[in-house]
Amino acid sequence: MRRISVLGATGSIGTNTLDLLARRRDDFRIIALTGGRNIELLAAQARQFGAELAVTAHDDEYNALKAALAGSGVEVASGAAALREAGARRADWVMSAIVGAAGLAPGLAALEQGACLALANKESLVTAGALIKATARKNGARILPVDSEHSAVFQALVGEDMEAVERIVITASGGAFRDWPAEKLAEATLEQAMTHPNWDMGARITIDSASMFNKALEVIETREFFAIEPERIEVLVHPQSLVHALVGFRDGALMAHLGAPDMRHAIGYALNWPERAELPVARLDLAAIGALEFRRPDEARFPALRLAREVMAAGGLAGAVFNAAKEAALDAFMAREIGFLDMARVVEEVLARGVPALENGHDGATMTLDKVAAADHMGRMAAREIIGAGRITGAR
Ligand code: NAD
Ligand code: MG
Repeated sequence: MRRISVLGATGSIGTNTLDLLARRRDDFRIIALTGGRNIELLAAQARQFGAELAVTAHDDEYNALKAALAGSGVEVASGAAALREAGARRADWVMSAIVGAAGLAPGLAALEQGACLALANKESLVTAGALIKATARKNGARILPVDSEHSAVFQALVGEDMEAVERIVITASGGAFRDWPAEKLAEATLEQAMTHPNWDMGARITIDSASMFNKALEVIETREFFAIEPERIEVLVHPQSLVHALVGFRDGALMAHLGAPDMRHAIGYALNWPERAELPVARLDLAAIGALEFRRPDEARFPALRLAREVMAAGGLAGAVFNAAKEAALDAFMAREIGFLDMARVVEEVLARGVPALENGHDGATMTLDKVAAADHMGRMAAREIIGAGRITGAR
């Protein structure tokens, strides 16, 4: 029986992961499940799967979780150290599906014990790609991508040599505001940004999709995961979200990965890898679909992609600063303190202040969790200062 933990079990990726696991109860044993303030759901999941350990990220929710799991035999804990403990508890396969930079330390703990890490938390690779990869190497642990585009690329590369890869193309639905003119974007509300045309995801990644910051993170994730030069990574707007990514080879061949927009495909691929098992996802009827549509992204309306290129050029800790500034700007937009377009303005201004260097640039040997945390803190503080200064006031 494989030992499995799910970090961020109560979220969109977490519940989809448990949906797949529930269909094959006899093959898996659930070790640790973690969540945030959704105590009722976390307790129900822990009871349903007979988890060893249930962790809430919040100390002030400890008593509620303890009470909800009374008599169940499930161990209960809370806080940052307990999240790391959830990652460190011996397991064969760990799903990293906490949202944001908070997912980094628990995921690293899983790699340190040599578990296979199914990585939905793209922020881990954006903030600390070199550290994540060095930790996996040192402990003989494998990282499998769960982001749909990266899973698609990973699948297109089976049996191929990276030497033969000319380019990687990841697609973007374009999010809620794909066709909105710039003037209208300035007025976009939180409610409008929270509706995604194709995918059903957590609130934060849905808004990041509308601003294209999600795609910006994914370009950096591509660079880190596949060790490919930034200039070989392309973004293609594809409103239908059926082609998830394409890999272009030096002989001109382009291998595309198609599938229904259902995260259970990428999760299931990582769960069953290196095999393929049956998955409960819709099958595409291409004749009914008829045509596939593609266009170039508009970096004037969506500056996030340009910022991602700056971050990759800077290397080192720039990704940690970038992600933290983006998270702080997103917090402010969700709190209706700033407008939709202001998010990119805040992040751009933070990056313009410069980022701390790493002695050897893009090197896992010099990158530590402390340095990443310091860069994260710097990015967050700078963003809050810019927002607090009140020069940016487009709140809706
Ligand atoms: P979500 O908001 O639905 O769920 C997030 C989970 O993390 C929840 O369990 C929540 O309780 C927990 N959490 C939130 N803040 C936390 C904190 N500070 N500390 C510890 N736990 C915390 O998010 P999601 O949409 O499932 O996304 C999870 C991750 O997967 C993100 O990194 C996202 O970018 C990535 N991802 C998601 C999708 C998708 O379809 N939802 C697709 C690709 C990648
Ligand atoms: Mg994605």
